[in-house]
Amino acid sequence: MRTILLIDMDSFFASVEQQSNPGLRGKPIAVIGSRKRTVITTASYEARTFGVKTGMNMWEAKKLCPHLIFVVGDNRKYAHTCEGLKNIYSSYTSEVEVYSIDEAFLDITASSLFGSPLEIGGKIKQRIKKEFGLNASVGIGPNKLIAKLACGLSKPNGLMWMTPETIQAILEKLPVKELWGIGKKTAKKLNSLGIYTCGQLGSTPASFLRDQFGIIGERLRLMGMGIYSSEIDCEREEPKSIGHSMTLPHDIWHEKDIRAYILKLSEMVGSRARRYSLMGNVISVTIRYKNFETFSRQSRITHTNDTHIIYNNAMRILKGIKLKAPIRLLGISISGLAESERPEQLHLLREHSKRHDLLRAIDSINDRYGGATLSWAGYMPCRSRRPVISPAWRPNGIHRTNV
Ligand SMILES: [Mg+2]
Repeated sequence: MRTILLIDMDSFFASVEQQSNPGLRGKPIAVIGSRKRTVITTASYEARTFGVKTGMNMWEAKKLCPHLIFVVGDNRKYAHTCEGLKNIYSSYTSEVEVYSIDEAFLDITASSLFGSPLEIGGKIKQRIKKEFGLNASVGIGPNKLIAKLACGLSKPNGLMWMTPETIQAILEKLPVKELWGIGKKTAKKLNSLGIYTCGQLGSTPASFLRDQFGIIGERLRLMGMGIYSSEIDCEREEPKSIGHSMTLPHDIWHEKDIRAYILKLSEMVGSRARRYSLMGNVISVTIRYKNFETFSRQSRITHTNDTHIIYNNAMRILKGIKLKAPIRLLGISISGLAESERPEQLHLLREHSKRHDLLRAIDSINDRYGGATLSWAGYMPCRSRRPVISPAWRPNGIHRTNV
């Protein structure tokens, strides 16, 4: 039996801002992006008591909490804190998975030298408070699913260890939608089948679930029983996808505007992939309509990190979609990643090599002078400031998509 600990920082971006500016402490604040139509990334607990939530529009939030203070997020501060937190975790175990910018899983099965699981959780919380002035919640269980559940139940500033006896008692009555990994759609379908609690899910015959959900049916049943086999993934330096998405300053509909943003996103994804010497062979485009309906379309391509190849393929995917409403958010990601420094792939053609050199030159100028110092002419309609970091960001600089 393993012992897994999940540390989740409480209202991370907002707390970091309150730490770096004492004038904001104890006040309702909301961290936002630098764009005109940004949404709230994180609300402080003082703001949450008024009902201010992540994802809310600024005007909606202001209505709920008229004295709310908006703070434009600063990626560098959060990344710096995240690195520091990782150092604390590493002093208790080498098995650390930085899952998102404010969450990390630790396997402390072999860490009894530092005390019991609860003692270790408590020590980590204390050190985070002492060194960074921040509150964290800690959940402990035999696997990631239970650690996540315990952490969520303990929030804010909590510490909870779920032993096998408590796990069964809690799962028995826990609504399936509360379980990590069960999305809204799956929960709705389970409910329509008369399965409301994890206890019911765990005692549903596997064959029935397989008929309804295909291969994930069996896994759902195990999850209902609190069994989860995913290990701590320390190899997060190996990213699974590279993606960017942006909420647009205004809803767009015309092809000219769509092209401009797709080019900008293609360049963001391409340059990031080139920086890490990676290429992807699956491209996916995410669209969110004005009414927040969101979907993605994928297509297989030959391995690339070339901005224009990414752009052309993204546009090809878009051409196959009949738009139903103006677009609020666009995203592009590449996955199926492979190292790009394979000479036979890179320098197959002289033409390719020249393009590669050009892209490298643009990247190095942008790295040195920041953002889109040099950019393709097609961007011009959508040049804007640096986007705020998403909670799905990881310290290695690779965005995790679909989180
Ligand atoms: Mg958090």
